[in-house]
Amino acid sequence: MPSDNEKEEKLLEALLEFSQKLSEERFVLGAGGNTSVKINDSVFIKPSGLSFSEMSTDDWVEVSFTTGMVLSPNGEQGTDKKKFHRPSSELQMHIDIYKNCPNVSCIFHAHPPHTIAVSAANISFKHMFPDSVTYLGEIIPIIEYCVPCGEELASLVKQNFSPPLDHYSLVMRNHGAITVGDSPKLAFLRMQVLEELAYMHWISQACVKSKEGYRTLSQDEVHRIQNLKKIKYRQSLMKKK
Ligand SMILES: [Zn+2]
Repeated sequence: MPSDNEKEEKLLEALLEFSQKLSEERFVLGAGGNTSVKINDSVFIKPSGLSFSEMSTDDWVEVSFTTGMVLSPNGEQGTDKKKFHRPSSELQMHIDIYKNCPNVSCIFHAHPPHTIAVSAANISFKHMFPDSVTYLGEIIPIIEYCVPCGEELASLVKQNFSPPLDHYSLVMRNHGAITVGDSPKLAFLRMQVLEELAYMHWISQACVKSKEGYRTLSQDEVHRIQNLKKIKYRQSLMKKK
């Protein structure tokens, strides 16, 4: 059986692998976006000012979930400067989501271009294909624009992630999106599906030149997808990853 240290190391490697995919997919540019995982009483979060592509697994900043204080790898202040990056300025937002939703252990925040553009065009994120229901849950809420990194944003986000959690993404108008899950892979896949959905809205909008002129899934159709046995089986598999 792998030790706790080995499990932590593997999880931080997976967090880096899927965070770097955010850059590869152009869901973030430069040092934008932030991701984290919660392991017991620690939150490992992206450092401020570094891009995912220039990070190694040693660069995750370990923060106490209880106090929000930065910890060294041993939970004490050490001398290795590299370990003392400042945590992402959105740390409070991550901690608030973890506090509200005990089943969430991984958070991805990115700036996917189609998602931002579609939110700016005031198009609501209605489901258009079965996978978006499977991965993102019943609804895709949108919060209005507010200044990044502040308490107002953290509070708005917190209100939109509270149990019982029936959705796994949140669109931030003119800013980006948040996805949550119990693994980096799942949080990344959810971001990918959300951006794909935004892309489809954009194409449909361009085709029909009217917000109301194209078909989205009805609430009844969304519920029917959620109740499909095969979908439930797939969702149970996702939870195990
Ligand atoms: Zn942001």
